[in-house]
Amino acid sequence: MDVRDITEKIKQRSSSEIAAIEKAFRFAEKYHEGELRYSGEPYLVHPFAVAQTLAGMHLDTNTIIAGLLHDVCESAPEEEKEARKKEIEKQFGKDVAFLVEGVTKLGKLRAHGEERYLENMRKMFLSIAQDVRVVLIRLADRLHNMQTLSAVPQHKQKRIADETLEIYAPLAGRLGMGKLRGSLEDLAFPFSYPKEYNALIDQIEERRKRKEVYLAKVKYKLNEELKKAKIPVVSVNARVKHVFSLYRKLQLHNNNLDEIYDVVALRIVVKNIEDCYAALGIVHKLWRPLPGRIKDYIALPKPNGYQSIHTTVFCLDGEITEFQIRTEKMHDEAEHGIAAHWIYTHQGKPKAGGAVSKSLKWIAQIREWQKESDGTKEFLENLKIDVFKNRIFVFTPTGDVIDLPDGATPVDFAYLVHSEIGNHCAGAKVNDKMTSLEHHLKNGDKCEILVQKSKKPSRSWLSFVKTNYAKSKIRAALEKK
Ligand code: MN
Repeated sequence: MDVRDITEKIKQRSSSEIAAIEKAFRFAEKYHEGELRYSGEPYLVHPFAVAQTLAGMHLDTNTIIAGLLHDVCESAPEEEKEARKKEIEKQFGKDVAFLVEGVTKLGKLRAHGEERYLENMRKMFLSIAQDVRVVLIRLADRLHNMQTLSAVPQHKQKRIADETLEIYAPLAGRLGMGKLRGSLEDLAFPFSYPKEYNALIDQIEERRKRKEVYLAKVKYKLNEELKKAKIPVVSVNARVKHVFSLYRKLQLHNNNLDEIYDVVALRIVVKNIEDCYAALGIVHKLWRPLPGRIKDYIALPKPNGYQSIHTTVFCLDGEITEFQIRTEKMHDEAEHGIAAHWIYTHQGKPKAGGAVSKSLKWIAQIREWQKESDGTKEFLENLKIDVFKNRIFVFTPTGDVIDLPDGATPVDFAYLVHSEIGNHCAGAKVNDKMTSLEHHLKNGDKCEILVQKSKKPSRSWLSFVKTNYAKSKIRAALEKK
């Protein structure tokens, strides 16, 4: 272990920040002295790996330091815990001490079954609302624990893997961290569903190898054409689809692998949005696109903010192949999500949009809900529905996007735009046609709410609204009457 493996990952930090990271490394080394991981390695390997992950996400220096120190209190004997906490604060300041304590608290999860799940969720959401960096450290911690799961006693493995699929992976996804989500899922998959995992690997391995050789040829041809067209390219790379997401997709396609074309896809990263469309033009000029397979997530971002153009074409030798086209910034955000936020603020650039502003908006929303609730079981159930269910996005007449759960109605939409619009909602137009307030909105709909000052919420709305946010606002208005 060399602390330079951490500090080399972060650029543009002052020498005092680098010195602080080195100091934290020695501090962790001292307190974990003699402790071992299940694998028999020195314990320090673990916080070291966590800090490396956080540095790789370009997070701020205090978060990296807290990553190095995150188990110093947790692994201490009870009577020493308080003293260690104080020592961390003295040596590294309040912010680091706060982060370490937050991570420690998030680690003490004792309940079982459904209770444990809800308890986990509650802690996660409270932490996100307070300081999302605590959760980012927990996610990096979980990543390394998953990477070393095979050394853990067998009877614990499945539980940890299931928990990862249930809580940590969706959470990473919701924070826009696609890369981390994919890694967590793929690491958990063989432990949670060993039979299904082995069957799938047998099925795809050969296909994957063949496709990689094939894509090298496609890549060569494509690079030539992009060069001719004078489109500056940042990178063109074959991207192997995450195994677990492939498994999920297969379930939607009756387990027919032939219906899935993106086992491996080609990803084109360019400088700006204009070049994305220009590159799309080149791909379509070279190879005929499959109808209905062009998805423009640049113009219409996914609910979590994901942006890219996807297209599937009859490629070289007529082989069906998927392409993904995006800018460097979109690529960064798709991989790192909320963590990309720090990249941009650190370099003094404007705040990142897309996935990041989406995530930040989501966090602001959680904060608001949390203020309104008392942390009851009902509140948690609501969060599960509002946050993790399938999402659709619906446009306002001015082109803003409202993120809603599947099956949401114009009344849900109205409340999310503004509670006053919800409270005085008298009718709705969807795609310029009058519809009922119970109408199920679809992805990409444009919705306009007709408002009447005299109109008040009706009790009957409670029977069809989908979001708990709308429900709570309607109840509040009814009580006032
Ligand atoms: Mn840990």
